[in-house]
Amino acid sequence: MNNWVVDAIGKINADAHRSADTHLFKLPLPRLEGIDIYLKDESTHPTGSLKHRLARSLFLYALCNGEIKEDMTVVEASSGSTAVSEAYFARMIGVPFIAVLPKSTARSKISQIEFYGGQTHFVESAPQMHGASVELAASIGGYFMDQFTFAERATDWRGNNNIAESIFTQMEREPHPVPSVLVMSAGTGGTSATLGRYIRYRGYDTRLTVVDPENSVFYDSYMTGDRSLVSDKSSRIEGIGRPKVEHSFQPGVIDKMLQVPDAASIATMLWLEKLIGRKAGPSTGTNLWGALKSAQEMAKLGQSGSIVTLLCDGGERYLDTCYDPTWVSTCVGDYEQYAVELDGDFS
Ligand SMILES: *Cc1c(COP(=O)(O)O)cnc(C)c1O
Repeated sequence: MNNWVVDAIGKINADAHRSADTHLFKLPLPRLEGIDIYLKDESTHPTGSLKHRLARSLFLYALCNGEIKEDMTVVEASSGSTAVSEAYFARMIGVPFIAVLPKSTARSKISQIEFYGGQTHFVESAPQMHGASVELAASIGGYFMDQFTFAERATDWRGNNNIAESIFTQMEREPHPVPSVLVMSAGTGGTSATLGRYIRYRGYDTRLTVVDPENSVFYDSYMTGDRSLVSDKSSRIEGIGRPKVEHSFQPGVIDKMLQVPDAASIATMLWLEKLIGRKAGPSTGTNLWGALKSAQEMAKLGQSGSIVTLLCDGGERYLDTCYDPTWVSTCVGDYEQYAVELDGDFS
């Protein structure tokens, strides 16, 4: 293999080797007798979200496949955390990076991509991102990373300290070491694919519940088996929910899906801040709402056990959206009923 490629793979692996694992912490919820809920804190990666894992996997996959070579520009369709994390790895191995994003993308996101040395290429609206990325990569002899296609296959689902193996190892000394339920939302669907495959591969007695926000077709596609569903709306919960069924979404490994109202996601995100004194992003609210509902179901059946879900990113990225009451009342609406329910049932 080419020396540059060997060197690039070495740099990415060394970065992973310098990292400690992300913390799995137990929520203080005494009202849930015999049921423990844990959050795996993915906000502590160097680029602040679970997309750090995805970006590392996508770069390694493309390098090992011989797709990324010295001086080749990497292109991605992402206005979010994936572009931020990929810009970090592109700079690490010394290749240019261009994020293709809608011109409505928040200034703070663009700054983060630029902070890691990434460039930006704007399109009118989100549905044009994919086509524009294919074209841009072809016209400059670059490589289109294509997270929504490759997320599920770039990760080593059998182990290699992927997020699933990490969760099951970290749970080993807990009162209920094998979780009854893992709860995760889907953006690319890559993380839920890894969790679901790992559960089956290791034969764990754990169910995978995937939570879906409003304006996403994943839930309906799961219920009907129709992969051609599309929607003309975009999800308001950043990072999750898609207007089309992405290749990386793997319904076969999911045991159950649950639709979560956006107002419930926001209410849970704000409720979590009161509980742990830290701000998480809105998809963490969606995840935790699903975990709390799963806990209620278990309690009703008289079961005890543990439930694990993810804190996907920190709330600092959302101060002018989900943490801004004006934005919330305009874009999402009233969440009072969910706040009351959370306080009544769990606080
Ligand atoms: C990408 C993302 C998710 C979903 O993860 P996937 O593995 O892409 O399905 C959840 N929350 C946030 C904040 C994300 O950026």
